[in-house]
Amino acid sequence: MAGKLYIVATPIGNLDDITLRALKILKEVNLIAAEDTRQTLKLLNHYDISKPLISYHRHNEDVKSDVLIEKLKNGENIAIVSDAGTPGICDPGEEVIKKAIEENIEVIPIPGPCAMITALIASGISTKEFVFLGFLPLNKKLRKQKLEEIQKSDKTIILYEAPHKMKATLLDLKNILLNRKIVLARELTKIHEEFIRKNIDELLNEIDNLKGEMILIIEGNSHVENEKNNLYDLSLEEHYKYYEKQGFDKKEIIKKIAKDRKLNKNEIYMQFIDKK
Ligand code: SAM
Repeated sequence: MAGKLYIVATPIGNLDDITLRALKILKEVNLIAAEDTRQTLKLLNHYDISKPLISYHRHNEDVKSDVLIEKLKNGENIAIVSDAGTPGICDPGEEVIKKAIEENIEVIPIPGPCAMITALIASGISTKEFVFLGFLPLNKKLRKQKLEEIQKSDKTIILYEAPHKMKATLLDLKNILLNRKIVLARELTKIHEEFIRKNIDELLNEIDNLKGEMILIIEGNSHVENEKNNLYDLSLEEHYKYYEKQGFDKKEIIKKIAKDRKLNKNEIYMQFIDKK
């Protein structure tokens, strides 16, 4: 009989944040597949658990998935854990889970900490509907697309970011957020846990002094439709400035104005030239 694959969530800082069920499973399985075996060993030692470990990370996910599937087929029960939080959420896990499902191997989630949910629930920003975008892409074109998505979204946005890239991300967001609320959640569940609820300029002033793991929670753009309606009331100059402030270039602005006013691009261009 095939073994079972358990996806076990582990703490994101505070070692007490582990469920009784997670500990039970980690004690019972034959093998633990860990993103970083040294990191997982600290957790296991803390709870007096001794188990064989196998490394399973982003760079060997493909090959190691096959090894794990073979072991599962041979009847071994395996727990997969990441360095922190829930495996598969911006962490390895997805590959072996997909393959296990294809092979009709039972996949059992053991829920627990996840940094995005931890940040969201105490952010004070709407939890009704939210979009998790993980880390913003570094590729310029893809990043621009994601920023546009954030600009338009009427749902709460959650972003992960590495501390050394946070300043660049805040600078990009500054161009598109206008006065939407933003919360930076830092070092969650740890000694220096902090929720910084300030505007983006104030965050930018502080960011060089902030350390540790960070998440951004951004209020949805609930004014998208209202803003669009109000745009009709603006003069062409005001309409132009509205998009200029958001960092769009001249060509993009003219395209956007034409779309908003349901007019031809050249018509806008001519009107705009006339006014300048
Ligand atoms: N699998 C994890 C989860 O369930 O949330 C996420 C892993 S991802 C590689 C790491 C990112 O999660 C960090 O860059 C940071 O944005 C966020 N993160 C993880 N732990 C955190 C913490 N204690 N405080 C704030 N952010 C954290």
